Amino acid sequence: MKIIDMYRSKQPVLSLEIFPPRPDYPLETVFTTIEKLIRLHPGFISVTYGAGGKTRDRTVEIAARIKKNHKIESLAHLTCVRHTRQEISDILDCLQEEGIQNIMALRGDYPEDDPDFDISKQEYRYAFELINDARNKADFGIAAAAHPEGHPECRKLSEDLVNLKHKVDCGVDFLITQLFFDNRIYYDFVDRAMAKGIECPIIPGIMPVLNAKQIKRIIYLCGASIPSKLLSLVDRYEYKPEDMEKAGIEYASRQIADLLSEHVPGIHLYTMNKADQITEIVNNVGIK
Ligand SMILES: Cc1cc2nc3c(=O)[nH]c(=O)nc-3n(C[C@H](O)[C@H](O)[C@H](O)COP(=O)(O)OP(=O)(O)OC[C@H]3O[C@@H](n4cnc5c(N)ncnc54)[C@H](O)[C@@H]3O)c2cc1C
Repeated sequence: MKIIDMYRSKQPVLSLEIFPPRPDYPLETVFTTIEKLIRLHPGFISVTYGAGGKTRDRTVEIAARIKKNHKIESLAHLTCVRHTRQEISDILDCLQEEGIQNIMALRGDYPEDDPDFDISKQEYRYAFELINDARNKADFGIAAAAHPEGHPECRKLSEDLVNLKHKVDCGVDFLITQLFFDNRIYYDFVDRAMAKGIECPIIPGIMPVLNAKQIKRIIYLCGASIPSKLLSLVDRYEYKPEDMEKAGIEYASRQIADLLSEHVPGIHLYTMNKADQITEIVNNVGIK
């Protein structure tokens, strides 16, 4: 099933993002998490694509098993930077053979550990090029990323929105946002995107702050701003992990409850493979 049809028929759609375990961990560990998560009746589960390349094969395998064994739609992430056109074509073939109908088409981040990396020498420079290739190849459902506070490489949100509109016009069914902690940023972004003529659903991506150290790194990487209310929680509970987790669950639950009250088309939760905490959040807000 194409995921866009879920947003057309029943809103809000709950979706959950998981990541493949590191290569030195058994693949089965993620299925223990998935078995707990499917009790929440998500519309679909998305599986990230490892930037470093070490877990890439696992994305296809996990996405295929979610669909075949658990009968839940999966969204396989795919990044194009550092891939050749031939490699992308082979991966898309593989996804099709495995019966995966929906992909999250991304550019990916530049490698942090390669000072010689030169984007001008890459066959893919932007996500829209991957979207064009995927659209020409097969009838995939295609999602893409949106950055409500602007992508860190783009100086102006208005320019980022022009690029986003072009990306959507290449054949994107729906967008999932980068994490944000202040819903006003999302509401404002949706208004601005609509004013630019972006008409597809824009799904808010929510990451609960369950661990103070982890969140500082994530914010550094994606450039999300942190409201003073949340910052004071992170400061207060930095060395009290259980209290931090409790406060993070409560913060995310309130954020989602507010989004639901504004009739968003769906909620996409960055689960970080933490099934118990995600279950608590979903139960708090009562989304099904
Ligand atoms: C929901 C979500 C899921 C993600 N999952 C993964 C994952 O599984 N694996 C992973 O490695 N990363 C993932 N990422 C991170 C993502 O790869 C990075 O944010 C990356 O830096 C940008 O990817 P993009 O697809 O948004 O790129 P693009 O849409 O290509 O945008 C990247 C930059 O290029 C600019 N740009 C775009 N088009 C043009 C153009 N035509 N002309 C000039 N400039 C242009 C944009 O303004 C932006 O600054 C995810 C991000 C999100 C929001």
